[in-house]
Amino acid sequence: IYLKKSAKAILRRSQFSPHYGNPYISVNNSLLRPEYLLGRLKHAERLHRSTANWNNYNALKSANDGYTAAIKDNILTKQLPTTCASRVLKGFCPPQNATVTKLLEKAGMIVLGKTNMDEFGMGSHSINSAYGAVTNGDPRRASALSVGGSSGGSALAVAQDLAHIAIGTDTGGSIRLPAAYMSLVGFKPSYGMISRYGVVPYANSLDTVGIIAKSAADIRLTFDILRRPDASDPTCLTAQSRKRIQTAKNRRRVSVLESNILFTPAFTPREIAPPAQRARARNMFLFQRSFARRIGVPLEYNIAEMHPLVRWAWTATLSHLQMYGFEIVPISLPSTKHALSSYYVLAPAEASSNLAKYDGVRYGTPRTRPSDDDAGRLFSGYRHDNLGPEVQRRILLGTYSLSAGAMDNYFIQAQKVRRMVQKDFDAVFRMPHPFHEEAPVNKDGVDVIIVPTAPTPPPHVRFLKDAGPVESYMNDVFTVPASLAGLPAISVPGPRHPDFPWKAERAVGIQVIGQYGDDFSVIYFAQNFL
Ligand code: GLN
Repeated sequence: IYLKKSAKAILRRSQFSPHYGNPYISVNNSLLRPEYLLGRLKHAERLHRSTANWNNYNALKSANDGYTAAIKDNILTKQLPTTCASRVLKGFCPPQNATVTKLLEKAGMIVLGKTNMDEFGMGSHSINSAYGAVTNGDPRRASALSVGGSSGGSALAVAQDLAHIAIGTDTGGSIRLPAAYMSLVGFKPSYGMISRYGVVPYANSLDTVGIIAKSAADIRLTFDILRRPDASDPTCLTAQSRKRIQTAKNRRRVSVLESNILFTPAFTPREIAPPAQRARARNMFLFQRSFARRIGVPLEYNIAEMHPLVRWAWTATLSHLQMYGFEIVPISLPSTKHALSSYYVLAPAEASSNLAKYDGVRYGTPRTRPSDDDAGRLFSGYRHDNLGPEVQRRILLGTYSLSAGAMDNYFIQAQKVRRMVQKDFDAVFRMPHPFHEEAPVNKDGVDVIIVPTAPTPPPHVRFLKDAGPVESYMNDVFTVPASLAGLPAISVPGPRHPDFPWKAERAVGIQVIGQYGDDFSVIYFAQNFL
């Protein structure tokens, strides 16, 4: 039984974990609490036995009972500490659950524990954590790979079968990057689709809660549970806004004449095309007709720094889709090249404001309390002692770009670039943006955009130690544009090169990006065609 096996594996691994003695013993530091976990696993196993057919999607959909979930450490959980992998929140046990936690438990899922991450979500390799780095492979070996970040612990928990699904947050690629590096499926919904109530904010205008799983079917199942309006989060879409999205979706429907109905094997006689192929083609036909048939390939994403294997996987995916009858359309998103710089001005700016409350007075206890009234020294001393170097760097960057002298040159410019990135996306999609009233249906537009998730396969951890922060920021070059525009995006494992035996260090992720609010098309596309 799946769960039994994983329970045994947890016991075995935790005994030999180099981090034994840490309250969060786990596989390579992915941060789950085994003493808590085992009780929950037993419960899950009982439920599992009572589930009639575990492999039947329909059975699962009616009863999520026994599905296990791991939750990133920046999402509130009532019975477990929430620390954002930072010393400033050490031992903080929130008095209530986040909306996502509540929804998962209500649906019958079992929250197993919290997962390690980059401190406050700042990083791309899950190595900036107060609990130590998360690694894919034994951290003492040279072969240890990056798990991606900042939801690296969540991804590792799923990859190691500790949980069926993991919840993470994606501000600039934190779900998609770990999914790509670990050959998993990672989904970031449209901004505002899933409530952020009870999620420790990093950059409010970019933060989204997302899902990591082994299959797109699990993502769909979980997304179905989580996409609910929530009055406690003012940025969470109301039922009324969701209706408007549906209207926008209906407007871009393709007529039968427009779709390439006659050329699909679905309509060839049974003797020529085998039933399985016909079924698949029919599926594709229905999908093409109602959702997607044109695939956009932005030329600006073909950067010189892209690893050859990534470029190969991208082209192979596109030719596979072309064979299926999808139309591959070269498109241009000219502002893409400025998106990364814009993100790394905006995200630290918002973070510096959000993190101002961790000053040793409202959270945590400073090591020394200056006897005089020098609050400045108290705050800076506390931050110096308790925040990691990356977080300190971001706070400094953010306060600088928001300061009166620098605001116009950095923050305002970055906001302008952000608007341009959003406009670029709006110009290429067939579906009009649901909240831009005047937007016409772009008949020649594309339905989804397909690009790689990261410019390279996962790097070795040993090289990350000497690499500067800018090198780590570079990993987000393909993920931040969708974040800046608030678009839904899913990363799925890319094809494997036939000439090389597959290895974890050759993992490549392929990303599907859709128009705002088109979340289900993106998931459906990934589930059926990639
Ligand atoms: N790597 C990005 C950053 O450091 C993304 C982080 C995230 O999405 N939480 O800001």
